[in-house]
Amino acid sequence: MSKGVVQASYIWLNGKFVKWEDARVHVLAQGIHYGIGVFEGIRGYYDDGYVKIFRLEDHMKRFLKSAKIIHLEMPYTLDALINAVIEVVKANNFKTDIYIRPVAFRGPGSIGVRAKNPVEVAVIAFEFGKYLKPTGVKCKISSWRKPPADSLPVYAKIAAMYLLYHLAAVEANNCGFDEAILLDGEGYVAEGSGENIFIVKDGVLITPPTYGAILEGITRDTIMKVATEILGMKVVERRIKREELYTADEAFFTGTAAEITPIVEVDNRIIGDGQIGKVTSQLMELYQKIVRGKIDKYGRWITEVK
Ligand code: PMP
Repeated sequence: MSKGVVQASYIWLNGKFVKWEDARVHVLAQGIHYGIGVFEGIRGYYDDGYVKIFRLEDHMKRFLKSAKIIHLEMPYTLDALINAVIEVVKANNFKTDIYIRPVAFRGPGSIGVRAKNPVEVAVIAFEFGKYLKPTGVKCKISSWRKPPADSLPVYAKIAAMYLLYHLAAVEANNCGFDEAILLDGEGYVAEGSGENIFIVKDGVLITPPTYGAILEGITRDTIMKVATEILGMKVVERRIKREELYTADEAFFTGTAAEITPIVEVDNRIIGDGQIGKVTSQLMELYQKIVRGKIDKYGRWITEVK
């Protein structure tokens, strides 16, 4: 599903609004050469005349944490970044669901890998639809593994890490699958190329632990809370073997872009009966209500922009 982005009017770049076509970066930027950068992916849902941004503060806090981990001195405070997102959404006057991409990277200066070139920051927002097929995806266990915790910082959402996900996703697509599932260095299930993963087994929701090789997904956190608090389910964080995934009753991905995407097949093994499972469909429905602020209990997660 590699469609081009729908161009919006303005981008926030280093504290100013610039026209979409004028938001340029110098080719010497260290972020391009060495992947020294961090980013976020946030969704806004157009509903009742507002763009409702989901868990904005949590995303921007993770953005700052990612930056800290890779020594990127962010030139803006949390409040300033949150405000930049809100202002970009306002400036573009969206009347559709959107995706928001804050990104910070080292710009031009020295070519040295140890240089700490000045940091540049942008917030880009654009119209956005579904990322993966909501009717269910067929997955391949990737030949590319997640690095161990002392290799690349798995917790941070760093640009350089996405080469790994690109390799895994392209490999899966080339082999005729919709998405890749990466294992950790020890062979346990880690996550998708842009999603966390859950399985349902005998009514229990199981997901890989955060001390493992995964990004601490905000959608993952949402689903763990919703499954416990609304569906009354038991949620367990533990390592998942590959064969447990093959034989799960249900499996699904969670992610800002992917939302809740059912996994219907892994390595040519049909998951459950190959249809969207009962728990998965309940969570999909709840999630769509929550992100639009329809469930009061989770209203605190919504930032409305008019
Ligand atoms: N894992 C990876 C590798 C991702 O890129 C993403 C998307 N940010 C996720 C998990 C899901 O995270 P979130 O729910 O915060 O979008």
